[in-house]
Amino acid sequence: DRLDQLSVPSLARAAYFVKAEAKLELGQAQEARRLLDQVLKASNGSPLPRIRYALGARVAAALGDWEAAYEDSRAEVEMLDQAVEERLSRASDQARARLELATDRVRRAELEAELELQAVRIEAADRQARLQRTALVLAAALLVFGGFFVYRLLRQGRQLTNLAMRDALTQLPNRRSFLNQAERELKEARLHATSTGLLMLDLDHFKRINDRFGHDIGDEVLVDFADILRQASRTSDFPARLGGEEFAVLLPKTDADGAKRVAERLLTGLASSLPLAEGRVERLTASVGVVSSGPDRSLETLMKAADDALYQAKHEGRARAVQASLTGGQA
Ligand code: GH3
Ligand code: MG
Ligand code: MG
Repeated sequence: DRLDQLSVPSLARAAYFVKAEAKLELGQAQEARRLLDQVLKASNGSPLPRIRYALGARVAAALGDWEAAYEDSRAEVEMLDQAVEERLSRASDQARARLELATDRVRRAELEAELELQAVRIEAADRQARLQRTALVLAAALLVFGGFFVYRLLRQGRQLTNLAMRDALTQLPNRRSFLNQAERELKEARLHATSTGLLMLDLDHFKRINDRFGHDIGDEVLVDFADILRQASRTSDFPARLGGEEFAVLLPKTDADGAKRVAERLLTGLASSLPLAEGRVERLTASVGVVSSGPDRSLETLMKAADDALYQAKHEGRARAVQASLTGGQA
């Protein structure tokens, strides 16, 4: 009975409920109801646990108070509903929290993957840039080396042509080059009906120069003579070394008189340029065969005539020019 005086904290309340249930089991429903009413009174309107209403309904039913039984049952069901709802809501909260956590984790993983992808992209771009630079450098090097190679090939080609077409000692065109040029020139002359002059030159007593001063001095004399030949020639003329101490000058668009004038000029130049080779040669002369033909002469005829005239110049005492008289065919 001391329980009656107690304000009823939940533990004490539990004791009341146990006691009330025991009374109900013993068939003392009135007593059970009294205990429950005491709890109700002591609670001062604060919420009571569900067992209070479950027990209350059973007690009211035992007492035949159906209305109270119904009320308590309804309250119990409502509390049950509420409890279920609360639990559901709690579960849903937990689920949401778990979902958010998972979402967070997924987002972080996505971010990390994105960062990694970016790093890979940067690395790839870097590598490509490096590759492009290397390719550029290689291409430039190839261009430079290729250019150099082509340049050398061209230069070698030029040098070979030079070797094939030029006399190494005097740098004048050689016999082969002279014959090419003369054939071309005669074709032109036939086309335009012009005359072509030709000088054949041979140094006089050159053997003596070699004998007295040596072969090297002889060479120097040949080089000097080539210079005189160049100086006496006009830009359209074509001087050449045919071999040994024999030279020729092709004179395009030049008649017999013009050819003779060139020959005389040459001999004068040779005489005034003495002494050659630093005074060691007192006197150098040449014999010249001069010829000029109309457009219908072949190179062979022309050269033969010039050679004959040269032979005649030698025969007449050297150091002179002799004009060929072309016989047979149009001169
Ligand atoms: P000619 O007045 O009759 O022409 O007498 P020549 O002594 O000039 O005639 P020849 O043909 O008998 O002799 C030519 C000489 O030229 C013979 C050769 O040793 C010399 N000779 C030929 N080519 C060269 C050369 O490249 N260098 C030198 N130093 N001498 C050469
Ligand atoms: Mg000779
Ligand atoms: Mg000679």
